Amino acid sequence: MTSNLVPTYAPPNLVFTRGEGVYLYDADDKPWLDFIAGIAVNSLGHCHPALVDALKSQADNLWHLSNMFEVPAREQLARRYCDSTFADLVFFTNSGTEAVEGLLKAARKYHADNNQPERIEVLTFAGAFHGRTYGAINAGGNPAYLKGFGPAMSGFVQLPFGDEKAFLEAISDKTAAVLIEPVQGEGGVRAADDEFLQLLRAKCDETGALLLYDEVQCGAGRTGKLFAHQWSNAEPDGMAVAKGVGGGFPLGAFLLTQQVGEHMVVGTHGSTYGGNPLAMAVGIALWDELERPGMMDHVVKVGNFLKQQLAALADEYSDLVVETRGKGLLVGLKLHEKLIAKEVAGLARDEGLLIGAAGDNVIRMAPPLIITEDHAREALQKLGKALQKARDTASK
Ligand SMILES: *Cc1c(COP(=O)(O)O)cnc(C)c1O
Repeated sequence: MTSNLVPTYAPPNLVFTRGEGVYLYDADDKPWLDFIAGIAVNSLGHCHPALVDALKSQADNLWHLSNMFEVPAREQLARRYCDSTFADLVFFTNSGTEAVEGLLKAARKYHADNNQPERIEVLTFAGAFHGRTYGAINAGGNPAYLKGFGPAMSGFVQLPFGDEKAFLEAISDKTAAVLIEPVQGEGGVRAADDEFLQLLRAKCDETGALLLYDEVQCGAGRTGKLFAHQWSNAEPDGMAVAKGVGGGFPLGAFLLTQQVGEHMVVGTHGSTYGGNPLAMAVGIALWDELERPGMMDHVVKVGNFLKQQLAALADEYSDLVVETRGKGLLVGLKLHEKLIAKEVAGLARDEGLLIGAAGDNVIRMAPPLIITEDHAREALQKLGKALQKARDTASK
């Protein structure tokens, strides 16, 4: 049968009909251990009762108003985000790419209003992924995502990830902002050093540039802090969030300091759906769970366990694995060039384990935050089998 979908995706021949906790099920009720979680989205697993309840009761009440009218839950969720971060002001979106666009606009507006309209340059880092809209693909700088879509936007300068020297040479009085993922997801599960983020903060303070974080993938508790940069104490002026904050319901936001956000006055930005009652109800229920005492400790503990197990596996398969990567429950294995990450993810799928591939030939795991050590053991045992198969094939 021919497909009526734009052919941007190539999913495997596999249909899930149900999800519960850390497992997905197909029509034959065969379980699949989900260690990619909609790419770091289903942070509480599938069909978490608190989220199901929140969505169902909101659905009986009120779905949509637009931003023409107040939604008290919007104010509530914004307050919750601000209480636990650097931020004073929040704008709700439906996705990560919209959140990044908002950050970029807010940064330029801030400088324009401060009589420095020439200050438009945004420094970004190789391997970055910031989404698929025009501003975001230009910020991401991945040639594969830009090719064929017309002239590159001016004002984006890309630097090697973590390269202090290149950064110190690039930042200038033209720099509007520095945009970085504290842990790169798509680019190969690479965590920036705390010292690097601290250097970015110090230099931004010195030059008047804004520091912007894209925590769409590494935020929402994924690294064992509510936001990944909180390990470093290098706080930003703006931050994009999405994915895990909605737990599977489309929800994103950009968070700003008062100083930056106050320039985004009436008429400067908007969204029809952003901050709708359904998203707010789910977002609040999800945040309640993330802030539950012990939740972040759990992520740290089970994340450490998973990483130890991955390191052991990397040792066992040192002919195939170059290194372990990541932080908390955003982890990966960089593979030797004789293997292709996507193919190894396919072999894992044959074993009933769902994982992803990322750039730089890395297999990526971003399981729900609620996994136990038993889930981690099960995943690693399946991944071991997949690597064994890859080894057998490679040696043929
Ligand atoms: C996924 C992702 C985005 C884009 O989010 P969408 O919801 O797909 O638009 C942006 N930045 C990072 C770091 C991401 O991982």
